Amino acid sequence: MTERTLVLAGGGHAHVEVLRQLAERPLAGWRAVLVTRESHSPYSGMLPGVAAGLYRPDQALIDARALTERAGASLVLDRVEGLDPEAQLVLRADGPPIPYDLLSIDTGATPDVSRVPGAAEHALPLKPIDGLLPRLDALFAEARAGQTVAVVGGGAAGCEMALAMAARLGPRGVRVVLAVGRAGLLPDKPAALRRRVTAEIARRGIALRSGQDVAAVTEAGLRIGDEMAPAEAVLWATGAAAAPWLAHSGLPRDAAGFLLVEPSLRVTGRTNVFAAGDVSSLLPKPLPKSGVVAVRQGPVLARNLRAAAEGRTLEDYVPQRDWLVLLSLGDGRALGTRNGLVFSGRWVWWWKDWLDRRFMARYQGNGR
Ligand SMILES: Cc1cc2nc3c(=O)[nH]c(=O)nc-3n(C[C@H](O)[C@H](O)[C@H](O)COP(=O)(O)OP(=O)(O)OC[C@H]3O[C@@H](n4cnc5c(N)ncnc54)[C@H](O)[C@@H]3O)c2cc1C
Repeated sequence: MTERTLVLAGGGHAHVEVLRQLAERPLAGWRAVLVTRESHSPYSGMLPGVAAGLYRPDQALIDARALTERAGASLVLDRVEGLDPEAQLVLRADGPPIPYDLLSIDTGATPDVSRVPGAAEHALPLKPIDGLLPRLDALFAEARAGQTVAVVGGGAAGCEMALAMAARLGPRGVRVVLAVGRAGLLPDKPAALRRRVTAEIARRGIALRSGQDVAAVTEAGLRIGDEMAPAEAVLWATGAAAAPWLAHSGLPRDAAGFLLVEPSLRVTGRTNVFAAGDVSSLLPKPLPKSGVVAVRQGPVLARNLRAAAEGRTLEDYVPQRDWLVLLSLGDGRALGTRNGLVFSGRWVWWWKDWLDRRFMARYQGNGR
């Protein structure tokens, strides 16, 4: 019997679990190929800790080569640029198309630098990580007292990065500005958490700019309404946009351009294409773009890819009604919320650190 091919596009949080399960239990009669643009997949939960200097970068990065080797899969380091669903081909930037019998997409979302003039030229987006880490190192090396670092974005990533910058650069006399726009700080989080984060931001001397969106980014900093907020460096942590290549994928998308998936994580109307994480838009009700969701979808995706390969019935991914949110404060403390309760302190950081290290150990080959 000829071997069939499972292609995993993107080394995101759900696919690392698919590969881990393939390492434990190979899929008979199938070969797996991971095509991803970065040799290391960042674990978002620990990235702000890397920026704060609490972790070394390698502690927050999953080595795609080692993971695929353990799974008996092939690794193609390249950018997916489109699909030919009729011919069942994944089109890539730098090589021949890759044929698939079964395809799964976990390529995440991209920081939305397209809507604000100057953002693409002058701001540093948090993804891709291989661009971010060297530029952060340069920023840390060059930062001087009296300068300002601005972070744009009022979601969890923006707050955590601003607090990380304050922890790392505040003692060196660098000011931090957090611009959260009209949506405000953590708009989708409980009010009690918002209050605590707002208080923490004030206590740490971070200047919070809200009420008006950033209208432009220039070499001199941010333009907010008619005013300039000067900054030597701008980190871009605003909402997630759909990658442009999805528009040429021939797959059904929601109004924002993300792939429509059924509760089984199968792309609507396709029998052999699945998608999970930020790139997907779950029917009937889309979920927030969050690492927690992508992680939770991983085991269901892994089981359903196996079921699809073996011609068995698929199971549904059932989202949790509420989940634990833990935010690093960048100084060895963290804030958390679950079921409306908010808690903070050093113990919350220890707990987050333990959970994050345990997660990473599963994919770095030293844990289960
Ligand atoms: C600084 C920061 C902190 C965050 N903190 C949290 C947090 O504490 N909790 C939380 O729940 N969420 C957090 N998030 C959000 C979280 O990062 C995302 O929701 C999560 O990463 C989504 O996972 P994913 O698997 O969909 O995609 P990703 O993690 O983005 O992975 C996508 C993968 O696909 C690859 N890829 C992308 N495009 C292509 C392409 N065209 N071709 C080939 N490969 C490609 C990438 O290299 C990457 O390996 C944070 C985000 C940031 C930036």
